[in-house]
Amino acid sequence: MKVTHAEMVISAVKPEQYPDSTLPEFALAGRSNVGKSSFINKMINRKNLARTSSKPGKTQTLNFYLINESLYFVDVPGYGFAKVSKQEREAWGKMIETYLTTREQLRAVILIVDLRHSPTKDDVMMYEFLKHYDIPAIIIATKADKIPKGKWQKHLKVVRETLNIVDGDELVLFSAETGQGKDEAWAVLQRFI
Ligand code: GDP
Repeated sequence: MKVTHAEMVISAVKPEQYPDSTLPEFALAGRSNVGKSSFINKMINRKNLARTSSKPGKTQTLNFYLINESLYFVDVPGYGFAKVSKQEREAWGKMIETYLTTREQLRAVILIVDLRHSPTKDDVMMYEFLKHYDIPAIIIATKADKIPKGKWQKHLKVVRETLNIVDGDELVLFSAETGQGKDEAWAVLQRFI
């Protein structure tokens, strides 16, 4: 898909604030610092539209990006910050859970993991949560440029097996640095539109 227009339309914390629209939505999830903002920016050809907004203490919001007036990326605050208080974690969990389990136009969750490392406990928990609610997942293994090409398959296998990816969920090798996997990721998204 050729992205010609992308804008952040709203930061929401509750359903009344979600955009009043029926366009397809894709939520983006991943642990903090995994490369989620870089993924979004690469996919929409922007240097800096999506920013890391997941620092502890900052307001944790669902950020809705309207793309080509035809679909939304919904940036979910990153998980896995050790320093976040229990209270904050619970509020985060409720906000995400409400969105993921009630939003009808949510087509799939794009789960970003780091190709270099085995998925974390939090990654596994997030994936299991999605499968529990029958939400399709697209797994993006990013930072591929940091691994020699000859080791990609081995690392993909670790991601696939650690998350226990089910048939039908796609795993895409990606690099925000080189743009590798961008076309494939868009092709996978198109199937859900
Ligand atoms: P977020 O917290 O998940 O939104 O993570 P960011 O997108 O801010 O990325 C965290 C760090 O990883 C930044 O320093 C990025 O430049 C770097 N990064 C993200 N994606 C890639 C990638 O594909 N390759 C490389 N080499 N670095 C990346």
